Amino acid sequence: MTTQTGPAPQPGIMEIDLYVGGQSALPGRDEVLKLSSNENPHGSSPRVKDAIESALSTLHRYPPTDHAALRAAIGEVNGIDPDRVICGVGSDEVLQFVVQCFAGPGDEVIHTEHGFSLYPVLIRAAGATPVKVPERDRVVDVDAILGAVTDRTRIVFLTNPGNPTGTMIPGEEAARLARALEGRAILVHDGAYSEFADGFDGGIGLVDAHPNVIATRTFSKIHGLGGLRIGWGYAARDMIDVLTRVRQPFNLSTVQLAAAEAALRDTDWVEFCRADNAAMRAWLRQALLDLGLEVDESHANFLLVRFADEQAALAADAALRADGILVRRVAGYGFPEALRITVGDEVGCHRVANLLAKHLGRA
Ligand code: PMP
Repeated sequence: MTTQTGPAPQPGIMEIDLYVGGQSALPGRDEVLKLSSNENPHGSSPRVKDAIESALSTLHRYPPTDHAALRAAIGEVNGIDPDRVICGVGSDEVLQFVVQCFAGPGDEVIHTEHGFSLYPVLIRAAGATPVKVPERDRVVDVDAILGAVTDRTRIVFLTNPGNPTGTMIPGEEAARLARALEGRAILVHDGAYSEFADGFDGGIGLVDAHPNVIATRTFSKIHGLGGLRIGWGYAARDMIDVLTRVRQPFNLSTVQLAAAEAALRDTDWVEFCRADNAAMRAWLRQALLDLGLEVDESHANFLLVRFADEQAALAADAALRADGILVRRVAGYGFPEALRITVGDEVGCHRVANLLAKHLGRA
């Protein structure tokens, strides 16, 4: 028998059920309405399938290592310099590059109370110490972050719009944070949901104004490509050069590169998904407010729905599951009384609202 010594092991990725969005089946159910991982209910652009099909003829060749075509498309669509873009296996990988390059044993990395649950996993994996800072009424509190900065702080994570809150901080607040950290720490502006926020540039202006900021983005949400794993980051040239040193040369496959470029260039599809999400998000929020539930305005593709208490949230979750609807429990994010519900298509949103109305005796 071995005796364990030293500190208790920290949870790794596989133990973090709040991150692993994999559950897509319910026992005894053939069909599930999956509203638990903030996926695009309309899927990806129809052009993606054609792009993948034509990429199949070159699968015997290695993919390009420089991602030039995809970075050029990212540059064109976002009006940015493609030489300041790095692509990764999901934005997860870009986040990992940042932590791997800029934090290590003895260093501290700040993330907010309700921030994305992968951050502490990456921070611990690099041997650094995660520092969790409270939010104020479910919104990131810049003063609280600045109060937690020490000589050992290397990175600050800002999820904007937040997950699972869906809230945003005003542009001036993000700029104040970036400015205060200049020369001290890197600010990661994680904009995984930024395309769903009206008129928002996803952190690009912040990067252009501050050399210590990296904006990260994903193809998993508005582009409907979660299963393919593609993300990117935009930062100052120096920072991109450092991150590129830890990137594997063939981290993205031919198929990933072709699909991402096709998705990005189908701007009509992106606009349709954005507008549909905005309309259904407003409709579902109002329907849930009418049921007496508490729901903040969301700038993402999900709603954080707060019930009277934890028991009420668990009962609603059980009722949704019994009807084949999967949503996300968010107790691990600090919201035992809430459920995070992805905004589905019109049919899906009506199903959720009707089911909850019935469950709460309001039908
Ligand atoms: N950041 C946030 C805030 C997220 O919610 C997610 C996905 N759940 C990611 C990053 C990672 O996205 P991906 O690796 O699929 O690009």
